[in-house]
Amino acid sequence: MATTDRNPPSGAGRKPSTIASQKPSTIAVWGGEEHPLAFGAAQVPIVQSAPFAYEDMDEWASVALGQSEGFIYSRNTNPTVAVFEEKCRLLEGGEKAIAFSSGMAAISNTLFTHLSPGDRVVSIKDSYGGTSRLFLDHVPRMGVEVDLIETSDSDAIEASIAKGCKLVYLETPTNPTLKIIDLRRAIAAAKAQGAITVVDNTFATPINQTPLALGADLVLHSATKYLGGHDDAMGGVLIGRRDLVQSVYEYREICGAVLSAFSAYLLLRGMKTLDLRVQKQNQTGLSVARFLKAHPRVKDVFHPGLETHDKHDVAKSQMSGFGGMLSFSIEGDFDALKRFVGHLKYVHRAASLGSVNTLIGPPSVTSHVECTAEQRAALGIPETLLRYSCGVEDADDLIAQLDDALDAI
Ligand code: PLP
Repeated sequence: MATTDRNPPSGAGRKPSTIASQKPSTIAVWGGEEHPLAFGAAQVPIVQSAPFAYEDMDEWASVALGQSEGFIYSRNTNPTVAVFEEKCRLLEGGEKAIAFSSGMAAISNTLFTHLSPGDRVVSIKDSYGGTSRLFLDHVPRMGVEVDLIETSDSDAIEASIAKGCKLVYLETPTNPTLKIIDLRRAIAAAKAQGAITVVDNTFATPINQTPLALGADLVLHSATKYLGGHDDAMGGVLIGRRDLVQSVYEYREICGAVLSAFSAYLLLRGMKTLDLRVQKQNQTGLSVARFLKAHPRVKDVFHPGLETHDKHDVAKSQMSGFGGMLSFSIEGDFDALKRFVGHLKYVHRAASLGSVNTLIGPPSVTSHVECTAEQRAALGIPETLLRYSCGVEDADDLIAQLDDALDAI
């Protein structure tokens, strides 16, 4: 199979130059779609084909050699996936985007492409649990030194970067305690060392935060979460500097962790309402956080929109909305938590986030199930913490349910 990017037809929208200047809600609907679509379809068709066939040998060779646009094989490029990639690229404002079978595939392929034996990487203690496992178990096996820093401590992050490193890996807000990293400071420190900065923007979404505009080199997502937004498709995406994304493309092509056309279709369908959903979830997130903060049976509430959040000002300076994710701990032990969670009606007790349905779960069985109780404790994650992902239900209904459930503990 080919090992270079075969330049699929741009899929870049009818007028790529004009769509990029539109607002995110318009890009979410039209971005990446080259109308008229095949058969005059109003929505992007699922091109469920592994290889692409050519009647003409010269044309085939020309596409295979990257001399003209076209598709060869879906492990390299696929028309449905290309539209998803382009929509994400436009929303994040990057030069190139590539999609993956999951968020973890995007993260691991990016790290394994850009890290080599002898390199040093700086990251944070509060990354998503799967990412933490990569940094604790797998990246060191490659002979790469990993320094995981206290997430909220910008001075310590800068000091570690200043020792020299190849790559800085950040996530903000973090999962599950919604810590905030000052992206401008960390990116400036990385640039001073010539290091690549990668930001997991899953929680914020490009509606609330665009790290590339703040100077990051690469941004990635678990598209399984807000981008898709309906809990019905797994996916990941990496967006950013063309040369850096191109190397990951070449690695992905060989490792094969590609997004399927069907999942790309579902993600594209979900993304049409990304802006609508996130704007509503921003409002609901803040209302729910304020309600919980004032409730006597709730101990801690973590949400960057609360004025009491230690990095509220930083969040305000780099985010246009604070998101629909929050976490909180309630009075009592794990049995109280079970009673509380069991009492909630219109929520999924599930391991994901960012869906139209509200989801709740303790990190010990969701984001940090890969970690031991000791590791969670070291990360400052109490066993009675609950992660709450606001859906698009009525905020008053969600609050009334939480109120009832708090009475029942
Ligand atoms: N990044 C963050 C912030 C996440 O919350 C998750 C999953 O929960 C991932 C990455 C991994 O994504 P996926 O489950 O799509 O592999």
